[in-house]
Amino acid sequence: MIEELAISTKGKNAFIDVTSEVEKAVTGLRVKSGVCIIFVPHTTAALTINENADSSVRSDIINALKNVVPDSGGYLHAEGNSPAHVKASLFGNSLTIPVENGSLRLGTWQGIYLCEFDGPRTRKIIIKVLNG
Ligand code: ZN
Repeated sequence: MIEELAISTKGKNAFIDVTSEVEKAVTGLRVKSGVCIIFVPHTTAALTINENADSSVRSDIINALKNVVPDSGGYLHAEGNSPAHVKASLFGNSLTIPVENGSLRLGTWQGIYLCEFDGPRTRKIIIKVLNG
C-alpha cells in the first residue's frame, strides 16, 4: 500500500507537475475508495496543489516567493540554504487527497506540484493510500 517516486528537478526553484505520476501510482495501489497521503522526506522541498492549466501561475508563485523569502536576509544556518528551508516550511511536506473510483478526486483546475527550493536534486515522493 505504498509507492515511492524519484523525481529529478532542474533549476534552483521549480514547481514540477507530478499529477500524472501520482495518479499512476495510486492506480497501481488498487484502492477504489480511500485517502491518498503524499509525503516528501526532504527539508528543502515541499508539495502543493494549484492550477495546472496556465503555467504562468507557477512562475508567478515562484516570483512572489522571492519577495516573501529573500535570497539574503541575515540567515544564520551555515549551509547557506535557509531560504529553501523557510519556503519548504511555508508549503509543508504532505498532501491529503480523496480517492474515488480508484482515482484522485482533484478539482478541474488542480494539479499536484513538487516544489523544489534548493535544486537541482533528485527528490523522493512517498505515496500511501488508506482504504475506506
Ligand atoms: Zn540546510
